[in-house]
Amino acid sequence: MSFIGEEDARFVHKLFKRYYFESREEVYVPERLPEREFGYFTFMEKIMIRHMSFNSPRELKDALVEKAPLHVYHSAAFYRYPRAPMDQKGWLGSELAFDIDADHLKTPCRKKHDFKICRTCMLAYPVEAEKCSRCGGSLEKVEWVCDKCLEGAKAEALKLLEILEGDLGFEKIRMAFSGNRGYHLIVSDEQVLELSQQERKEIIDYITGTGLDLRMLGLGGRRVRAEIAPDIADPGWRGRIARSSLQLMLAADPERLYELTEDKKAYSIKEEFEKARELLSDNVPWGALK
Ligand SMILES: [Zn+2]
Ligand SMILES: [Zn+2]
Repeated sequence: MSFIGEEDARFVHKLFKRYYFESREEVYVPERLPEREFGYFTFMEKIMIRHMSFNSPRELKDALVEKAPLHVYHSAAFYRYPRAPMDQKGWLGSELAFDIDADHLKTPCRKKHDFKICRTCMLAYPVEAEKCSRCGGSLEKVEWVCDKCLEGAKAEALKLLEILEGDLGFEKIRMAFSGNRGYHLIVSDEQVLELSQQERKEIIDYITGTGLDLRMLGLGGRRVRAEIAPDIADPGWRGRIARSSLQLMLAADPERLYELTEDKKAYSIKEEFEKARELLSDNVPWGALK
């Protein structure tokens, strides 16, 4: 959150203070509280205070009411000494945390609601502008978020949730608004807590489809090898690829296809898609598609 002037910051700070005072019981308290490192952003100086910890929910809430921070963070990791410098904290384990942010999505509404300002002249400009036309000074970007941005981020978060639950079988998953432009997904199943960096990277590679070899799925080259090609009922990436391909074909939407492949051919296969759709006609397994 950025403020135009100090007075605005002071006003919002007062509201935050009131919120923490009146709603302290609603504040979310993570599991294994004493083993987490906390940090917060101050309102006025906008600096990050780190290496804090709290022994009880009450201690945490007292601090929130007293400081009413701009943002407050806690580690996904557990430490023996959460207040110690980083290399002396004594890592005990860590949840698996994902951050889905609308910033990374190409939502078309961004052009409408993001803008730039010149703080000196208090003038607003479109995002493309580089300098203030009155004073020639540099501009500051103001990013906004609308329901469409959040819906987009939520759709991505739900895709991730499906992989975490369906493919990987995790059960203790918490999903929450990240406080900015998206959502956090936190996996805290016992099995993930002590995974190494390399093991965590393997999970990310699986989720992002990194290293997925289409030839191994019978899809490389010009001919599909039907006997080993993915089926819509297959688990994991195989089924996901089959279902998504079928959906793309049924939609016969060249724009969408081009967006995904960035290949101009997308515009020339519309007719083939329509022919295939006719051939399938009544045999479309709608139940398997979402
Ligand atoms: Zn200016
Ligand atoms: Zn938007």
